Amino acid sequence: MKIIVTGGAGFIGSAVCRHLVKDLGYTAINVDKLTYAGNLETLKEIEDSELYHFEKVDICDRNALDEVFAKYQPDAVMHLAAESHVDRSITGAGEFIQTNIVGTFNMLEAARAYWLGLREVDQKAFRFLHVSTDEVYGSLGDEGLFHETTPYDPSSPYSASKASADHLANAWHETYGFPVVISNCSNNYGPYHFPEKLIPLVILNALDGHPLPIYGDGSNVRDWLYVEDHAKALFTIMSKGRLGEKYNVGGRNERTNLEVVTRICEILDEVRPKNRPYAEQITYVTDRPGHDARYAIDATKLEDELGWKAEENFDTGIKKTIQWYLDNEWWWAPLRSHATERKGVLKED
Ligand code: NAD
Repeated sequence: MKIIVTGGAGFIGSAVCRHLVKDLGYTAINVDKLTYAGNLETLKEIEDSELYHFEKVDICDRNALDEVFAKYQPDAVMHLAAESHVDRSITGAGEFIQTNIVGTFNMLEAARAYWLGLREVDQKAFRFLHVSTDEVYGSLGDEGLFHETTPYDPSSPYSASKASADHLANAWHETYGFPVVISNCSNNYGPYHFPEKLIPLVILNALDGHPLPIYGDGSNVRDWLYVEDHAKALFTIMSKGRLGEKYNVGGRNERTNLEVVTRICEILDEVRPKNRPYAEQITYVTDRPGHDARYAIDATKLEDELGWKAEENFDTGIKKTIQWYLDNEWWWAPLRSHATERKGVLKED
């Protein structure tokens, strides 16, 4: 199988490329513009494989996309390229509109033009997976879960742009019969996570002796999923999901931000002890605007229908993640200097 992975130099896209090439023996064609979030070092484990290809292409460039489709003749697309950082969307929404909405439109149109030219048997086998987020559903109260039928209610420019893209992907299935399937996932964490995101930032700030600032009272809840579990889920949905359907992806690992930060501190106290507990570095700062209170995913449809299940729980996954950051300074040290610490605040998205 030959699969185009857009955003393959990012956090989740690189995990998808590694899964395709290393675990499954498929060909991954990484199409990535290499924004601040893209990093080819993340693909070191597979960069020499003949199953891995890289094309530096902006998904807003339709001609370049047409050339990629013509050159590689893929069997499927896994579309992950996006501007993904909520705080950046608050300070500069323009890039989010371009990449997440216009870029997704371009991907759908380039893929559809290519698909229309395929033989009938190949058309039937072709798949386009549009990768999205649970943030399109808005915020939950103390109770309840996001289901595939939960109405969209995005709060941030990021989630609104992803919601728009989801509607486009769905419309391309409804209108043109284009073979689309959509996934909506909760917060990911794990190796190669950009150092401005909550979990790596807490680990690295803790090690550096810097404050661990938390929005508000730290009670916001996120449902955390280990990135390699997500990569496996995405391949399952792309290859086995019913066309025109949506699948929620989540690990049943709800934690408040305070619980996440405290657990990281406890593990660091064990594996890298200092003269005082790391939790003493926690500080509370003013909440961010439009901060959704709680996200929690019901992944029953994906589990029951397609047989996927998260292999890591939060405790096993966070231990692996901390160990990975301790062992891989070569990867994160050069990136740390680029990480924006907007208002010095941690971001969990
Ligand atoms: P990321 O920011 O780490 O990576 C995004 C990648 O897309 C980068 O390599 C970047 O260079 C590339 N890119 C950006 N604009 C591009 C453009 N115009 N053309 C080509 N490439 C471009 O993001 P991530 O965390 O890996 O997220 C990947 C996808 O998964 C996104 O669609 C995101 O919305 C979705 N998602 C993320 C999470 C999460 O917790 N990180 C959860 C659910 C869904």
